[in-house]
Amino acid sequence: MSPVRPSIQRRITLPVAIGPVTLGGLAPIVIQSMTNTDTADVAGTVQQVAELARAGSELVRITVNHESAARAVPAIREALDAQGCRVPLVGDFHFNGHRLLADYPECAQALAKYRINPGNVGTGETKGSQFATMIDLACRYERPVRIGVNWGSLDQELIARLMDENARSAQPREPEHIMHEAMVQSALSSAERAVELGLPKNRIILSCKMSGVQDLIAVYRMMAARSDYALHLGLTEAGMGSKGIVASTAALAVLLQEGIGDTIRVSLTPAPGEARTREVVVAQEILQTMGLRAFAPMVTACPGCGRTTSDTFQHLAQNIQTYLRDQMPVWRTQYPGVETMQVAVMGCVVNGPGESKHANIGISLPGSGERPSAPVYIDGEKVTTLKGEGIADQFKRMVDDYIESHYGAGSRSG
Ligand code: SF4
Repeated sequence: MSPVRPSIQRRITLPVAIGPVTLGGLAPIVIQSMTNTDTADVAGTVQQVAELARAGSELVRITVNHESAARAVPAIREALDAQGCRVPLVGDFHFNGHRLLADYPECAQALAKYRINPGNVGTGETKGSQFATMIDLACRYERPVRIGVNWGSLDQELIARLMDENARSAQPREPEHIMHEAMVQSALSSAERAVELGLPKNRIILSCKMSGVQDLIAVYRMMAARSDYALHLGLTEAGMGSKGIVASTAALAVLLQEGIGDTIRVSLTPAPGEARTREVVVAQEILQTMGLRAFAPMVTACPGCGRTTSDTFQHLAQNIQTYLRDQMPVWRTQYPGVETMQVAVMGCVVNGPGESKHANIGISLPGSGERPSAPVYIDGEKVTTLKGEGIADQFKRMVDDYIESHYGAGSRSG
């Protein structure tokens, strides 16, 4: 009943160690996220990094955009370590990264990886030297680097050159193709330069983030065909709410299904007041629903229809899903394997018993006009029928008992 399917053929890339985390090679696809606090605000950033890590982010990126941010990074690392949060921190640099990394060695050491955007690392003559400084520092501190090309800050000199060449060509390609080519060339030529400067290939991760789903898919297919570097996937500026989730999922799912991608980030714009951790949950759900990794028990619930005139089953499904996810920080160590569990909460007898039988534990609530009873199935067998007002609480207790007996210490002692 495990939802993890090893059947998708992953493209094998060079493995990269980022502190205690490995990505690429045969390692599981790593989830990362990024803070939106001012990095100079140590307490606020520590709190958000810890929340993201608790939600399941395995790497957390923070912006290092000015001197006060660079000064804050060692204090952030120290405070996280003091509370037992070991999640590696990735420094996001643009424009002045060469100077900040050189001037603040403690910042350079506190970060587990540096992100360099080749489009924002200087122009003309300064570009080569500023890029070289960052790579030299990555070599000195033995840190991996993500060469992260972004559609919104693509190297303008490169795109102008490729557009000119295309215009002079006997068979010019579509401008869209030249844009894609520019993204890929920017990443690959920067990686090549980094290797020439002494950075080992297994300390390089590449990304080419775009905001259009089809553009992203096209560019990553090109990257995957032309290199064996580990790839960071993400649709940049995905947007808010369901649009951001759907667009990210559409793009990432196609690539992941083709075995492309070693680490992912879902770049959601949070609604005012919405938790930053939403992007981590969405990333986990993409991987788990595709059968690539498991993070928390999943609830299968029907959409409801005219047969469910009350919202009881909606409440129960939501209640159970929230409960299961909230328990995971503790359950992860207490009940190994619980993350693969499937729970079904169904609205009536039409599909309820069938779907419940496929889950580890499932309940089929009464639809309108049905007898007020709810059969419960465990490992495919009907074990009881719950009745009365307290069905939700009784079912939750049965879920707890199932977890204890199937994933608890007692279940492993034999
Ligand atoms: S299981 Fe029943 S309530 Fe749920 S969608 Fe199907 S018919 Fe409707």
